[in-house]
Amino acid sequence: MTVPLPPQIHVFVRDWLSANNILLKSANGHVLIDTGYVRHAPFTLKLLQSQGKLGEEGLSKIVNTHCHSDHIGGNATIQRFYSCPIALPEGEAPLIERWDTKALWLDYADQHTDRFTVDEILRAGTTQLWGNLEWQAIAAPGHDMGALVFFNPEHRILISGDALWENGYGLVMPRAIEPAALPATRATLDMIAALDARIVIPGHGEVFTDVAPALARAYARTIAFEADDARVARHALKVLLVFRLLDKQRMPLAELPAYVERIGIYRDLNAACLHLSPVQLADLLVRELVRAGAVSVKDEFLIPM
Ligand SMILES: [Zn+2]
Repeated sequence: MTVPLPPQIHVFVRDWLSANNILLKSANGHVLIDTGYVRHAPFTLKLLQSQGKLGEEGLSKIVNTHCHSDHIGGNATIQRFYSCPIALPEGEAPLIERWDTKALWLDYADQHTDRFTVDEILRAGTTQLWGNLEWQAIAAPGHDMGALVFFNPEHRILISGDALWENGYGLVMPRAIEPAALPATRATLDMIAALDARIVIPGHGEVFTDVAPALARAYARTIAFEADDARVARHALKVLLVFRLLDKQRMPLAELPAYVERIGIYRDLNAACLHLSPVQLADLLVRELVRAGAVSVKDEFLIPM
């Protein structure tokens, strides 16, 4: 089902490697929210030109909901093409300015993006005029402690980033690593519930209107996470491994134990929550991902489904 949106809102629904791109068009300049993963940047540019019909007038601004590689990966390429400024949340700006590859989950999580600089800072509590619509910038910490969501009260449309999807939300750090993340996740769900949004444009997946059931699923996940830090860690590592496989297409199964020992986020989450040997951790991740139908093993290679 296609959800009817105001005509100036164009959503390019992408996949798990690239976040959705939201183009807000107006005669005062077109604004793009989130730019996908770096490897897909040429395709994102193509989408802007073909489906977005960006012609001579180009793009006047790039905005990010938060600074993970699947949302900021096209920033540098698209900025170079359209010579437009990049605006991002206040809490993320220092990480981008010092290019903190650990806090940004870049090499720390074996993810990549082209470097760029911050031109404009977006503060929670402000209202932005994009696509001739007013968007309230609201703090949405949890999955990313500096994230913002954007809410248009007139049409009750929420651009939620990874704070709420139709089925879940972006991975969260276990309490042993980031004590504030899970409580913030719950508080962000409470904030979203109070908005009474009619339409959600998520960071991944189709635009949806069944907001109450989506919130119920997100709360159920949060309750399960609150009860079991190891579950939070396993979930995060599985999501990260699938992302890596989508990025690189495949990985020799035999390399996985060395990989989970080498890449910082696997090492840290394992040490804090799981206490497994690298071989045990690799076995656990493969077993659970195969059972979930997320990956398959073929000719001794791990392949994303
Ligand atoms: Zn994210």
